[in-house]
Amino acid sequence: MNDLSPASTTAWHTVGIDQALRQLDSNDDTGLTAQAVLDRRQKYGPNELEEIGGRPAWRILLDQFTNIMLLMLMAVAVVSGVLSYRDQEFPKDAIAIFAIVILNGVLGYLQESRAEKALAALKQMASPSVRVQRDGRLQEVPSQDLVPGDIMLLEAGDQVAADGRLLEASNLQLRESALTGEAQGVNKQATRTLAADTSLADRKNLVFQGTEVAQGRGRVLVTGTGMKTELGRIAAMLQGVETEPTPLQQRMTQLGNVLVSGSLTLVAIVVGAGVFFGGWGAFERLLEVALSMAVAVVPEGLPAVITVTLAIGTQRMVRRQALIRRLPAVETLGSVTTICSDKTGTLTQNKMVVQRVRTLSQSLQITGEGYAPEGEFVSEGQPLDPRQVTDVGLLLVDGLLCNDSVLQKEGGDWAIMGDPTEGALVVMAAKSGLDRHRLGHELQRVVEFPFSSERKRMSVVFSGVHALAADLTLPKALANAPYLMLAKGSPEMLLECCTSGLKGTEQFELDQETRSRILADSAAMAAQGLRVLGFAYRSITTVPNEGDPDLAERDLVWLGLVGMIDALRPEVRVAVQRCRVAGIRPMMITGDHQLTAMAIAQDLGIADADARSLSGAELEAMSQAELEAVVKEVNIYARVSPEHKLRIVKALQKDHQIVAMTGDGVNDAPALKQAEIGIAMGITGTDVSKEASDMVLLDDNFATIVAATEEGRVVYTNIRRFVKYILGSNIGELLTIALSPLLLPILDVPLSPLQILWMNLVTDGFPALALAVEPAEPDVMEQPPHDPQEGIFARGLGAYMLRIGIVFAIISVSMMVWAYQHAQQGGDPDRWKTMVFTTLCLAQMGHAIAVRSGSRLTIEMSPWSNPFVLGAVLLTCVLQLMLIYVEPLRNFFGTHLLSSFELLICFGFSTLLFVWVEAEKIYRRIRGKVVRD
Ligand code: ATP
Repeated sequence: MNDLSPASTTAWHTVGIDQALRQLDSNDDTGLTAQAVLDRRQKYGPNELEEIGGRPAWRILLDQFTNIMLLMLMAVAVVSGVLSYRDQEFPKDAIAIFAIVILNGVLGYLQESRAEKALAALKQMASPSVRVQRDGRLQEVPSQDLVPGDIMLLEAGDQVAADGRLLEASNLQLRESALTGEAQGVNKQATRTLAADTSLADRKNLVFQGTEVAQGRGRVLVTGTGMKTELGRIAAMLQGVETEPTPLQQRMTQLGNVLVSGSLTLVAIVVGAGVFFGGWGAFERLLEVALSMAVAVVPEGLPAVITVTLAIGTQRMVRRQALIRRLPAVETLGSVTTICSDKTGTLTQNKMVVQRVRTLSQSLQITGEGYAPEGEFVSEGQPLDPRQVTDVGLLLVDGLLCNDSVLQKEGGDWAIMGDPTEGALVVMAAKSGLDRHRLGHELQRVVEFPFSSERKRMSVVFSGVHALAADLTLPKALANAPYLMLAKGSPEMLLECCTSGLKGTEQFELDQETRSRILADSAAMAAQGLRVLGFAYRSITTVPNEGDPDLAERDLVWLGLVGMIDALRPEVRVAVQRCRVAGIRPMMITGDHQLTAMAIAQDLGIADADARSLSGAELEAMSQAELEAVVKEVNIYARVSPEHKLRIVKALQKDHQIVAMTGDGVNDAPALKQAEIGIAMGITGTDVSKEASDMVLLDDNFATIVAATEEGRVVYTNIRRFVKYILGSNIGELLTIALSPLLLPILDVPLSPLQILWMNLVTDGFPALALAVEPAEPDVMEQPPHDPQEGIFARGLGAYMLRIGIVFAIISVSMMVWAYQHAQQGGDPDRWKTMVFTTLCLAQMGHAIAVRSGSRLTIEMSPWSNPFVLGAVLLTCVLQLMLIYVEPLRNFFGTHLLSSFELLICFGFSTLLFVWVEAEKIYRRIRGKVVRD
């Protein structure tokens, strides 16, 4: 092997194809050997870019401390520290508050950077695979495995995984904006060699890592991998993983503002009233009350619990085959109202098998299942050799050669590399005994007009036509033709390009009647749910211009129709039904025939027997306003192009729908970006569509979208559940502290800042985390989706928090008044404070158990359905008792010893909150009110 070190220094655009292959010691036909790949992997390392960019660590850390609640806590710590200093006391509270602030910041930092890493890892899971020629076989390998010298294949929608020198390019256009900033596609050519000073943007014989294939196909000799690529060199241009604040985090910021301003107002009132009635002498004590109130109102544990919940949500979704690429998608999924799905591969299995062939002379059935090339051609009940009938034989050749898929045996099973539609045609041809390798020796592909979802057809031009004579009787016009064009595509569109037809060996001009008959045959097959393709050919004398398919694909000779079956995914029917019950509207948006789409939609329950469907052509003729009206009723869109998808999403959004839209092609990216949830296909999706998506379906399955919306709803409900739980407690504490100067004969605070922090972090924190993993309510998919615009206090949550806060305060204040008097009768007179502290903590435990469901009573729920809640409650109770009965802790937290009678009183009072919450449920049930969590 030549020394490969110059790989990164050679100006590959100046080098011819043969020399490049020689220099990298590679082989155009067979590619590298497995051993050569191993050696080069060792030498060059994996084909990866070092992750750089994004927010630096110090910035993430600093951002944690800009939160208004943490700022307020810091101010509290400073004031508390000054007071302790003046009283010559150890500044326990100040240190604790600072510690909590720092802990909160560090936790937030760790979680955020972990979330970034986790998202990056998830993205890696969806990282592109590359088709390479190795050991004489076509193989699919992860992009990290590429080495210099590999022969890599490119097609529309691929993201180029390494730098390379083109060996072959057919209509190849790349979008290089990631590298050069140039938005226009760049046409590439393999044959040219360029001057050394050609700028990067003009190196038309090279492809670069990170760019996208907009159209066409290419074969590339890999010249540079990893950091030794153009992109690697300017890696600073690379974006790090984006993190956007989720809508929920934004709502939490708003909540923080409300809480902080609300509590500061209350503080002003308490301090103002205190000074007014008690004079300035009371100011210092009032300041302590104010400090406690400020600490009480901040839900210190909440941000951490939310981050953990979202992380758990993404994990749960991955387990159900839905890979989240952007964190906000986790919650948005819960509010999806419309799912627009492709048909092929998402609703169906994308395992095509040809069943029918209809030419102008024959109508044939084809037997056999799966991709095994075993089966017969049957005409009117009799087996038939299809190559004996010229139009059928030529159609089979058309299907075989106007085709980029490969049929190969993998571990004993037949498998398709490439598009399953084309794979089915290879299998069909193989059943007749046609062999591409044998034909390929003489027949050479000279031009190709690739398939695109807009054109819905493809064609290729071959030289060496005479080689076909060994397999079939050729029509006269073809016998001496220098070139043969073979075309296939959607029957209506291909027929438009035809002027004549072939019946047996006879070519004749197509009249209107024959055209109508062909279309009627196609419609009849489509109505049975078959995917129908048309086939045509033409003999030509000169090689057509690559850039203009419309000019070349004309005056074609019609050959016939092929109908293939694509079985439904068995789980989709149930998923569609679940969508309907959940108030989510399933829609089908497909490139396929209207009747095929309709037959499948009816079978799946997406459309009724008399439902209306809209074709791309009808949609094209509509104004956006007209479409907005139609989109409210029509669920089936057929023969659409990717740009129609964008219009449909926009029309649905105008109607305030929250749209999840699937897409796999290179041109689906705008629609995916526009939809609230853009969904790409993990298996068949192009890299470009994945890059534009919020979520990737690892199994391409519609049922997975429904599963992900369910998980989204569960996450959202659980967040509401623990927000309710935590903030009810904060309001209760706040009111208790604010009321104590009014109700007690002395001016004193029942809870020290340290104790409040303990409650907010530990006694609220553990149960809240346990509530975050609460399993779905059984009816979660029987409810309508929630409104994504709804505020944090929507659907009674604000009222609940306030109500529970007040009840909480009434319980603790009544207990406080009793405890105060009780404590004055002997023993430690400050015991009442510990009784209040304990009652507040224990009452929250009852609340945690009751809040698990807004409608079901606790006795109706199994404690084992979420054992974490039970565990958290037990743990917290033990910790609370330790604070009272373990001496060092008692000294540190400033609690007082309680007698068992006093402890019993605390337990008694604290159960009242549980009783209240349960009573609310019973009341609502009697009144017939339905609540949603
Ligand atoms: P969906 O959008 O649901 O995935 P689809 O796969 O049928 O549906 P397209 O791939 O855009 O949508 O195909 C549209 C039509 O183009 C098909 O109905 C078929 O007639 C034709 N077609 C599909 N694949 C090819 C191909 N490889 N070559 C030629 N024509 C094709």
